[in-house]
Amino acid sequence: GIGYSNLTLQPEDSIFRLFGEFMADSSPDAINLSIGAYRGNDGKPWVLPVVKKAKEILLRDPQANHEYLPLEGLTSFNEAAAKLILGENSPAILEKRYAAVQTVSGTGANRIAAEFFAKFRPSATVYITNPTWGNHKKIFMAAGLPIIEYEYWNPKTRSINHAQVLATLKTALPGSIFLLHACAHNPTGLDPTHRQWQEIADIMESRNLNPFFDCAYQGFASGDLDTDAWAVRYFVVRGFNVICAQSFSKNFGLYAERTGCLVGIFGDEEVARMAKSQFAYLLRCSISHAPGFGANIVDIVFKNEALVREWKENLKEMSTRISQMREKVVQLLVELKTPGDWSHITSQIGMFSYTGLTMPQVAAIKMKFHVYMTDEGRASMAGLNEKNVENFAKAVDWVVR
Ligand code: PMP
Repeated sequence: GIGYSNLTLQPEDSIFRLFGEFMADSSPDAINLSIGAYRGNDGKPWVLPVVKKAKEILLRDPQANHEYLPLEGLTSFNEAAAKLILGENSPAILEKRYAAVQTVSGTGANRIAAEFFAKFRPSATVYITNPTWGNHKKIFMAAGLPIIEYEYWNPKTRSINHAQVLATLKTALPGSIFLLHACAHNPTGLDPTHRQWQEIADIMESRNLNPFFDCAYQGFASGDLDTDAWAVRYFVVRGFNVICAQSFSKNFGLYAERTGCLVGIFGDEEVARMAKSQFAYLLRCSISHAPGFGANIVDIVFKNEALVREWKENLKEMSTRISQMREKVVQLLVELKTPGDWSHITSQIGMFSYTGLTMPQVAAIKMKFHVYMTDEGRASMAGLNEKNVENFAKAVDWVVR
């Protein structure tokens, strides 16, 4: 047969390259702040205690089997996931104006949403923040959608460039889709205030723009599930058609189990029913059936009030540990009299801190202190703990002087 003479080597995603470098670093002081996965104070991956319990329940269940799930995924999981993001008593739930399908985690939910937009809003442009999660651009480009990036992070003030956000909305092409981070914006850790969300919604409403929310950190960001769902719920109450990608990687620590949901909220039940049939079709020609294990674990927790309470405690524990590390870093930098204002580290929320360190500074502390952060100065705060936080602060202090 004919060969593949047009084949080229696809450069490795920089985040995986960085992880490879960390793994090859034999220094006992090496600190991995690259990958966005929670670590306990011992620096090790943490299986949520509530997940351990749910696993035992699943293991003992005589009815459990390995049959295919329905095409839409585990129905009770989907319903619970929709209630989690929209709120138990959301009119959208009560009026059955929503469509929820199980996806291959948040990534899969983004991808199905992208294909849905490409099919039913083929002339729409997708607006993404600069910076954003590294995979957003790739996923929406893969679906063939035009993308426009706009400045979200103001490097001078180390805060959101809200004026630019509003200006972009005011001049966006009609019918565009705005990819919004539901909470704990990745990588900046900065979310609009309620007042700012209101301003965003006002312009989107008057200009007929569509929100697409990516929700990868509900409950993990603030420690409170409702607080972190505020923006999505607000847009739903305002009457927008909202599409939302949900990930359970972080808030259940189920990274490898690929547990997610795509939820769409529409004007009436009939539209929701059609959308769900289209979501299911897109799943059929990409993955056929979603994986069962993670969805079963989450479902077992959702069905049991005591386990839900325990899950909320686990969420609090993770988010509290991360915010304590943020405070510790700032405290140490103040003690070291490190030049500059570092208060943005504690005003940012979620997994990441966008430190404001430049690419050469990031490279320098990797060489000298074995601290691994992404090129644009993003640090996964979960990688810090009582043993290594001082070294991290010393590294930052050294590099900015
Ligand atoms: N969206 C955002 C903003 C994320 O940060 C992540 C995880 N890094 C995801 C989606 C998807 O992750 P997963 O596919 O593991 O759910």
